[in-house]
Amino acid sequence: MSPSAEQWAAAVAAVRSAGAGDEVLLICHVNPDGDALGSMLGFALGLRRLGFTRIQATFPGQFSIPDPYAGLPGLDLLVPETDAYGDPGMVMVFDVASESRLGGLAGRLAAAPRSVVLDHHASNTGFGQVRLVDPLAAATSVVAEQLLSRLDVPLDAEIAECFYVALATDTGSFKFDMTTVAVHELAARLIATGIRPGEISRRIFDSKPFGAMKLTGEVLGRAVLDPAAAGGLGMVWTYATLSDLERYSQPPYVLDTLIDPVRSVAEADVSVLVKQVGTREWSVSLRSKGAVDVSGVAISQGGGGHRLAAGFTGFGEPDDVVATVRRLLDDFLN
Ligand code: AMP
Ligand code: MN
Ligand code: MN
Repeated sequence: MSPSAEQWAAAVAAVRSAGAGDEVLLICHVNPDGDALGSMLGFALGLRRLGFTRIQATFPGQFSIPDPYAGLPGLDLLVPETDAYGDPGMVMVFDVASESRLGGLAGRLAAAPRSVVLDHHASNTGFGQVRLVDPLAAATSVVAEQLLSRLDVPLDAEIAECFYVALATDTGSFKFDMTTVAVHELAARLIATGIRPGEISRRIFDSKPFGAMKLTGEVLGRAVLDPAAAGGLGMVWTYATLSDLERYSQPPYVLDTLIDPVRSVAEADVSVLVKQVGTREWSVSLRSKGAVDVSGVAISQGGGGHRLAAGFTGFGEPDDVVATVRRLLDDFLN
């Protein structure tokens, strides 16, 4: 269900009732992607246009910005979790499906006198005072842009660049099923501010260090095709370890888009990328071409996501994690 008229009105009222001098803390999910950072920073810039003077944007965990997003407008508002306002007058949350994705910042949300949650995950667990959760939105930036519009903040090129990056990443460069007429209409309005889609796309999709390309080659080289998995629909999987990253001197974010070549395998409906994040701890990306709802698998393991793209944290060795996914797929299909 998309947000109701009452929920939109409550969100507008929450922002309007905060004083321009109040501390506003914006938070997106751990290990932020283009939508998390883009929707949050675009909205932060909108708040600045509204006259707010004390704005911080942050996310939990290690404070590193993936290179493709290092040029985003509004980055001057970004602070590490440890520097974030301790007792903000308003908290706004972006692209976060469950409170666990807020890490150590969940307490800020709970204690805030005003809170607004903007999201588009069908698996959103329902937290925060005002909830703008639209599972039909292609990206959280779609929701953020609508709220700015209801606050009478016009789009400018800086806000538009943030929202465009968010929209382009979450639609896989306008390729996924969620790429509706409304998505293209929003993209058109964003581009009309003067931003350069070609330049932005090159930066966020088509630019990677040489070492990342070599690492990709090695990780793809060890992929396994399991035609019998997912009730015969097929599954393809591979994994990347911390020592792989170290060997090629690459930061973890280079693995964020590695699921894309894996999911292009024609013989498999389901694709899985198992990325090491710690000792016997793995961040698991799941994709489906449509026959299987992978969010069910992710949610059953404490993760979340969408029908065709989901993730969770797994434990053990990559073989164990994949065996669990294989078993759950069979359970869900039976
Ligand atoms: P990823 O595979 O990391 O690109 O994530 C795909 C989708 O699953 C995104 O919508 C994420 O928000 C969601 N997701 C990934 N990992 C988790 C997790 N541990 N908990 C909840 N949602 C997740
Ligand atoms: Mn995200
Ligand atoms: Mn998103």
